[in-house]
Amino acid sequence: MPTTTIDLFRFQPDHSDEPYRQQFELEHEEGVTVLDALLQLQNEQDGTIAMRYSCRSAICGSCACKADGRTVLACMEQIEEVKARSGGGTVTIDPIGNFAPLKDLIVDLDPFWEKFKAVKPYLIPDGPAPDKERIVPKEAMQKIEKEAACILCAACYSECNSLAADPEFVGPAAFAWGHRFAGDVRDGERKERVKLYSGDHGVWDCTRCMYCNERCPKGVDPRDAIEKLGGIAFQEGVTSDTGARHAKAFLISMRTGGKLNETLLVPYTDPIKAQLDVPFALKMLMKGKAPSPIPHRVEGLKEVKHLVKNVKEEV
Ligand code: SF4
Ligand code: SF4
Repeated sequence: MPTTTIDLFRFQPDHSDEPYRQQFELEHEEGVTVLDALLQLQNEQDGTIAMRYSCRSAICGSCACKADGRTVLACMEQIEEVKARSGGGTVTIDPIGNFAPLKDLIVDLDPFWEKFKAVKPYLIPDGPAPDKERIVPKEAMQKIEKEAACILCAACYSECNSLAADPEFVGPAAFAWGHRFAGDVRDGERKERVKLYSGDHGVWDCTRCMYCNERCPKGVDPRDAIEKLGGIAFQEGVTSDTGARHAKAFLISMRTGGKLNETLLVPYTDPIKAQLDVPFALKMLMKGKAPSPIPHRVEGLKEVKHLVKNVKEEV
């Protein structure tokens, strides 16, 4: 049987105010998951090890943790997979990131649930209840199929760079649920939803690091959902945010010149700041350090315009 050294994050507030690390040598069966290994440790070596888990089948979303710095569902990830990724040495296990630890691998998820509730994760009907069953076309449901697969494990929050910088950022899973309903043809509050999801800490504050897409164990692709919410905001005319204006300037650049026009970007995104920056911008221009304010046109502008049109129709 293989033996693995497990370096475990410990936090036992009943005994110590400070977290510490503890190493265990574990002889285990081939193919055990991280959760199996933790339960074996708990049963055989230290009954005080605390963690959340329930279904052991990647359905309940309770057992997310970090294995060698990467957020995983403990019941989905085999110890050997973690070792293969990290070069075969010690396996470090930590609680998920961006949440305060309460005890060992258990973190305080209250902020996660608050944000989830704040996006109104339920259907708000677009009229009185119909007399008979309302059949939604398959194609319409397919547009929100991925988001409906979210199991609320918070793995995406653990990896989210915007959340690390701004604890108030609403976050990937909540926005995925936001799109689950804003994108539902039966929902009557599409515009109100995108207003709710815009503004401070909203969809435009995502840094597009893509970690949420990469780490989500269920293929929800929350970053894609955020992007689609941005598209709905445009369709509904909810575009007063700095982030929305920035995106709009980018779009105008593409349509008119076929590539990014930095000179247009600042005045469109933040007109007040742009006015204050005029003297500095002029100096840069005179020294040849700023691009020409005259819009440029790339070869093949027609194709770029087609591309923009096609993307718009996809949303
Ligand atoms: S989006 Fe994915 S990673 Fe985030 S909570 Fe849902 S299932 Fe977990
Ligand atoms: S893409 Fe956006 S929401 Fe997703 S992890 Fe990065 S910053 Fe967070």
